[in-house]
Amino acid sequence: MISLFSPHSRATFAGVCLSIGLLGLSPSLQAQEKPLLIEKINPQLYLYTTFNTFEGTKYAANAVYLITKKGVILFDTPWDSTQYQPLLDSIKQKHNLPVIAVYATHWHEDRAGGFAYYNRIGIPTYATKMTNDLLKANHKAQATHLVSTNKTYSVGGQSFVLNFFGAGHSMDNVVVWFPEYKILDGGCFIKSSEAQDLGFTADGDIKSWKPSLARLLAKYPEINMVIPGHDAWKDKGQIKRTEALLTGGH
Ligand SMILES: [Zn+2]
Repeated sequence: MISLFSPHSRATFAGVCLSIGLLGLSPSLQAQEKPLLIEKINPQLYLYTTFNTFEGTKYAANAVYLITKKGVILFDTPWDSTQYQPLLDSIKQKHNLPVIAVYATHWHEDRAGGFAYYNRIGIPTYATKMTNDLLKANHKAQATHLVSTNKTYSVGGQSFVLNFFGAGHSMDNVVVWFPEYKILDGGCFIKSSEAQDLGFTADGDIKSWKPSLARLLAKYPEINMVIPGHDAWKDKGQIKRTEALLTGGH
């Protein structure tokens, strides 16, 4: 894989895991001017998208939230910092529920960038020890609570598991599994079906990524839906595309 990043551009780009080979968004997203999109996956699980610009091109970051009887749980913070509060407001307006917890699937800006804000307003934030250690090492706000991997958490009638299958996009990337729905929120560990390359991998481990993904597939042989960290998420080609990119195919 040829790196598209010169060493000096890395600092600008650090903390993002999108696919640079994908020059822009799909036509439907290009037409979209709203900074925050919220779409229903099922009655309990919603996907939200925020945007950011790298070298003049706008990219989308996907994240999800889960509606429980006790409140709403965010899995990853908005990438666009102007949307940290509007996301809470939209959730309150749409579901009449507060956000009671915020999890991050790895330490980068498009996942954990909102920790400082949510910590400041008193919403508990959660990450694995590895993610918190990386946040600390990179002088970023850490989660206020540590989360265990491979453990089913049940909150307000809903459950989820954070799992770590090894390094890939980053050293700490975890995925979120929703067992009732067999839905996998892959974060940046999983590429979109339309991704043209692996994106920003300087903080990750490409050699480990493929065996890590194989461990995920062994653990979850039946998956109804896979949410990638960036770009198109409604079709079914995410895992195949990620495997192809890791094998060097296109
Ligand atoms: Zn990342």
